[in-house]
Amino acid sequence: MQKGWPDELDLGPVTVLTGRDRGAYPHGNSVLVEGSDRAFLIDPSLTVHREGGLPGGQVPDAVLLSHCHEDHLAGLSLFGDVPVLIHAGDRQGLDSIDRFMEIYGMDPGPSAAFAAEIIETFHYRPRPDALTFTDGDVFDLGGVTIEAHHAPGHTRGHTVFVVPEARAAYLGDIDLSGFGPYYGDTWSDLVSFESTIDMCRNLDAEHFITFHHKGVVSGRTQFLTALERFASAIDRRESAILEYLAAGPRTLAEMVAHRFIYRPHVELVFADSVEKRSIGLHLDRLVSQGRVEPAGGYYRLTEA
Ligand SMILES: [Zn+2]
Repeated sequence: MQKGWPDELDLGPVTVLTGRDRGAYPHGNSVLVEGSDRAFLIDPSLTVHREGGLPGGQVPDAVLLSHCHEDHLAGLSLFGDVPVLIHAGDRQGLDSIDRFMEIYGMDPGPSAAFAAEIIETFHYRPRPDALTFTDGDVFDLGGVTIEAHHAPGHTRGHTVFVVPEARAAYLGDIDLSGFGPYYGDTWSDLVSFESTIDMCRNLDAEHFITFHHKGVVSGRTQFLTALERFASAIDRRESAILEYLAAGPRTLAEMVAHRFIYRPHVELVFADSVEKRSIGLHLDRLVSQGRVEPAGGYYRLTEA
């Protein structure tokens, strides 16, 4: 059903409310799911906030969040009286800005600067009344259902939502981008992200919706191709780290300055924190595999 949203995408009971700049950060693609009894809004974006809410002033019966990141709840403050639900793993982020910032785990300077941006630009308001869902929960909207599939890695509570009646899966920040998986927060985990990518290979849907970048990928074959390309960034980063260490021992600080996640010219307040955390997860794994060893403040390739 056409809602009158700019660039909306109609998938039957699911409407993709495409964000500005095709959902590029800081915007994103929100999803409205409507049954005969209730309508749920997933991840209210900054575009939803800029538009002043949903088309026609519609108020959803609940807001579902895929995870606790600033761009996924930028429109939440418009719906202060509407119940909000999030996976228990990310629940604490809605208690207060301080608890929210713990999810990122940035160094104090960047954390304070980013917290101010989250409040001003992304309209963060605490929602201590937030409710939780867990893996396998199903929301019945009246002839239309939303299934919660826990998909950790990006954050601890990150969740994929499947609407079987629309043959649609909303992937949140498993965004199928060329950048690849983001696991740069304290709440992120590389090994969990890889298990989540495995889980996604088996999602039973025909339309795959991402918050950023792709928007909607239709067709399982197209989706699986995009998913493999997305996942390949993990191996690419790991190979680059090994190649760098092959030239000689390096400190973590040197590796952060070299950049393995962002390109060297990218200026983001949180870039160094993200590099440190992401490279650290790769190093943890390489050390546990016996391929890299720490030695006196340096990391080096293990002698064959
Ligand atoms: Zn995110």
